[in-house]
Amino acid sequence: MHGWKLIPLVVLVAGCAARRPMPPLAGPSSEPVLETPARVALMTAPGEADWTALGDEATGLLTRYLRINTTNPPVVLRRDGIEAQIFEPAQGKANLYARLRGDGSARPLILLNHMDVVLASPEYWTVDPFSGLIKDGYVWGRGALDMKGEAIAQLMTMLILKRAHVPLKRDIIFLATSDEEIGAGVGAAWIAEHQADLVRDAEFLLNEGGVTRADGRGGVEFYGVGTTEKSPFWLDVTARGTAGHGSRPTPDNPVHRLIRALNRIAEWRTPLTVIPAVERSFRDLATIERDSTVRRWLSDIRTALRDSVAVRAITADLTYNALLRNTISITGLKGSDKTNVIPPVATAAIDVRLLPGQDPATFLAELTRVVGDTAVTVRPQGPNWPATESPIETEMFRAITAVAHARHPNALVTTLMLPGFTDSHYFRRMDIASYGLGPFPLTQGESRGVHGNDERVRIDALRFGVRFYYDVVTLVAAK
Ligand SMILES: [Zn+2]
Repeated sequence: MHGWKLIPLVVLVAGCAARRPMPPLAGPSSEPVLETPARVALMTAPGEADWTALGDEATGLLTRYLRINTTNPPVVLRRDGIEAQIFEPAQGKANLYARLRGDGSARPLILLNHMDVVLASPEYWTVDPFSGLIKDGYVWGRGALDMKGEAIAQLMTMLILKRAHVPLKRDIIFLATSDEEIGAGVGAAWIAEHQADLVRDAEFLLNEGGVTRADGRGGVEFYGVGTTEKSPFWLDVTARGTAGHGSRPTPDNPVHRLIRALNRIAEWRTPLTVIPAVERSFRDLATIERDSTVRRWLSDIRTALRDSVAVRAITADLTYNALLRNTISITGLKGSDKTNVIPPVATAAIDVRLLPGQDPATFLAELTRVVGDTAVTVRPQGPNWPATESPIETEMFRAITAVAHARHPNALVTTLMLPGFTDSHYFRRMDIASYGLGPFPLTQGESRGVHGNDERVRIDALRFGVRFYYDVVTLVAAK
């Protein structure tokens, strides 16, 4: 296993940094592992010429970050005089917290990123996934998009604000967590549970979960800002029956029972449900849709869903389908370990995703009715949380829109509901307006690297994203 690859980039020095008092000094650090790119000196807010050098610095940092261990935020932050704290709730799982002070006249803004990445299978990659290679105008590596690239954009924003002595009305909190992809409770969940005081006073949060869709010709089709997400409701299905020898079939073989139950679940078409957030983004997306029929459907999705042709076409799109209903994927199966043994129990795991506003208990009752077998039980794997939504009538949403329009005056800025989920829900539940921002203009093809093979970010998209992030943050936080 690549256990160490899941360890975040702070960890190599977290070991020493956490146990040793942090040097209180600003400026170059004496950390032995330091090998960071040249640092751009700033006396005031960056001008055109500075952004080229800042883009180079971001590229260099990302390359090193993708190689995991030759640089790390504590050192980079400290080198610029920003104190960072490290919390290590579990061995090798560290969370990093740094705060740039404002004058306190407005509430803080959190820049949230996760340091862990999903596994990469090198045999399917054209380059070493942990090389941070620069090739063909891209920085390649697992995490380049999800989400080390965005983390570097956030880190650069902190550094630039500090170097340029930008006066702030809000504190800016940089929070890098160690555990998003697995969800073992030692990342954002741990902060929310054990260090809530560090973040509770924040008004806004920026995180992964947004999209800037490039048109492939140097322009942008739309900016999608994540405002809400579906909520996972993972279930175990258990069938019980009579165990025995495989040579003498029993009528209540639990594996047979389970298969029949799962068959009913697989065939169940959950009802189509239009929630206001999805209705709004479909209406927005209709304005840039080229196909006139699809445009008509998207502009009035409620009416479209009464037409069976439209329903078939729209739900054939996996994303649209997931936005319009509670979904079910049967993902795990377990019967007997031995071919000739009928087990007493057979189980399946199913991945249910609920739309915001749906009641888990109601869904469970409905699913149990669909299964229709008292020998089969359906139980949640763990606690579930209600999906929450962040409002768009906020200073942050307006800032994102303004920064996007400054670059692409005609581009659509719309809201997105993620069919998956990020760590934003921990903060939305604390009443912090949290937005998914995708700062890098990516074509549909480029986005496929997320959790896929050959994940990479175009260097010019990285440069764009660093400046985009900085502009959004200064617009809401600078005095
Ligand atoms: Zn992610």
